[in-house]
Amino acid sequence: MRTRIPVIGAIAVAAWALPYGLGGYTIHVVNIALIYALLAIGMGLAMGISGQINLAQVAFFGVGAYGVAILTTHSGYGFWAAAVLALLATVAIGLFVGIPALRMQSHYLGIVTLGLALGFINWITNAHITGGADGISGIPVPTLPGIDLSSEYLYYYLEAFVFAVGLAFGLFVVHTSLGRRLRAMRDDSLAAGAMGAEIPLLRMTAFLLASFYGGLAGILYGGLIRYVAPETFSISNMFILLAMVVIGGRRSLVGCVIGAIGLTLVREWLSDFSTYAQLGYGVVVVLMVVFAPTGLAGIPARLRALHRRRRGGDATRAELRPFTPYEPVEDSAQQPGLLRVEAVTKQFRGLRALDEVSLTVDAGEIRGIVGPNGSGKTTLFNVISGFYRATSGTVRFAGGDTTTARPYALSLSGMARTFQNLRLFGQLTVRENILVALDRSRTRAIWRYALWQPGVIAQERRLRTEADEILERYGLGDFAESPPASLPYGIQRRIEIARAMAARPRLLLLDEPAAGLNGEEVQQLVGIVRSIRSGGTTVVLIEHNMGLVMSLCEKVTVLSSGRTIAEGTPREVVAAPEVIEAYLGDSELSELRLDQESIPQQDSTQDRPKEATS
Ligand code: ADP
Ligand code: MG
Repeated sequence: MRTRIPVIGAIAVAAWALPYGLGGYTIHVVNIALIYALLAIGMGLAMGISGQINLAQVAFFGVGAYGVAILTTHSGYGFWAAAVLALLATVAIGLFVGIPALRMQSHYLGIVTLGLALGFINWITNAHITGGADGISGIPVPTLPGIDLSSEYLYYYLEAFVFAVGLAFGLFVVHTSLGRRLRAMRDDSLAAGAMGAEIPLLRMTAFLLASFYGGLAGILYGGLIRYVAPETFSISNMFILLAMVVIGGRRSLVGCVIGAIGLTLVREWLSDFSTYAQLGYGVVVVLMVVFAPTGLAGIPARLRALHRRRRGGDATRAELRPFTPYEPVEDSAQQPGLLRVEAVTKQFRGLRALDEVSLTVDAGEIRGIVGPNGSGKTTLFNVISGFYRATSGTVRFAGGDTTTARPYALSLSGMARTFQNLRLFGQLTVRENILVALDRSRTRAIWRYALWQPGVIAQERRLRTEADEILERYGLGDFAESPPASLPYGIQRRIEIARAMAARPRLLLLDEPAAGLNGEEVQQLVGIVRSIRSGGTTVVLIEHNMGLVMSLCEKVTVLSSGRTIAEGTPREVVAAPEVIEAYLGDSELSELRLDQESIPQQDSTQDRPKEATS
């Protein structure tokens, strides 16, 4: 941060001094560039940060510009009143465009937003109120006391101010609670949902942000050019905007700005060769997508990573430290039936993955769920945690009927899970992965971004302190700033447990947590799971590693072909004829038997868990 202040200061001084050295035409180009930069920030927030393909950004731009034009010339509003109304109209359109995002993703969303943009272009070209192909001229000069904004030099300062505030706000969003959730949604929307993020609302928020910046840019454009016509909002300009964001680096708002300003200038130089230039941008975009998908802004990080790899990595100093056990809680209210699964069936077309499965887990248990591959264990977790809706039957969690509850709602009511195939947020750091789960605020709390930013900052401080505690507890301190994908598998598994526990759940669902771990890591896992339970969290654990199930669980449920075939203590279960039959011919049976001999003494709930590494 300290190194940034002089940089920001230098940029501010340069921005202040810039018009003194520029001719009348150049300042005009700069003013256009700043407008595109605002547009690109909106585009980056939707596409790069939130992962929502948005080809309607020129339409937002157009609604802002035409809104001001129509309201000032037809309806007789002053510029600023018209600007406020136009911005509200743009945001309303943005939310409307975002509706398809509730249902669909990726390329479909691209097609739909493109369709909406085309519809808008069609409308402005043909409607009477928009002046048809001629557009609308005679937009009044915005007035500011003592400043003549008809001078492009002075208009530059207005734009620079709006741009600076817009960029600062965008960066603030990206690096705090809302932006972290948007990025988590981009990386893995299922996992983000399981961490308490309301995905549909977040998608809408992405479009709201994009349209807000689009509207701002449109309003500034109207005040600068004082004339609007359809060609400014054409699909080819949409493509240029896309090129700006891709070339600059869509995941970084600063990258988007660099792309926008750079390409506006290049476009100006090449204005005599505009047809060839279009082709050129296309080629550059393709090359960027193939060779530098993170754009210009991503190049420094790529070089750093390359440099690290050359040097053999400095990760050697970083190490996974021992887990610090939770303070055991005295079991006050032994709640029977924390989780009740009643006759749940899950049908996938012809396949019955779960067939009338019933199961009751009491608070304070560590329940094992075993069964051959494809027996429906993961499906059961998916039904319990709201990813799948049961075809029939009910699920009750903490006393309420949660059969149709959404993953985020279940997360907020105290259920957390991990995934059989790791689902960490790949582009977030380990600390940010934890922070996403720590953040228990609802999406509607984003009003604070508009009206009470200190509240956001205070929450952020609190979350960061808690994140540090969790990182320390799980021995992950050295990896706080690393992207998870760069870490060994065993560490990633531990991060996933730490992330699930960051939500302070009452019930933790672990889907094959020992898969891919080595012997020592499995021992550590045993310690962690025991400590989680004595810390007051009930655990349900799917596991293939029978040794682990035998040593951790008092009670085991065995599934086979979607049916519960046995339930009881590990000893009872391995002796049940149904289980032996289900595992017949399966190498796991011999494993099962072997492990039966080596079942360690069960620890009671009150036991303070052994430190895993000891
Ligand atoms: P397990 O975790 O016990 O290995 P799963 O619950 O993953 O088994 O799968 C149980 C059965 O359900 C498998 O036959 C699998 O192919 C099927 N299945 C799981 N999810 C889906 C899905 N989304 N669509 C269709 N079939 C599925
Ligand atoms: Mg599974």
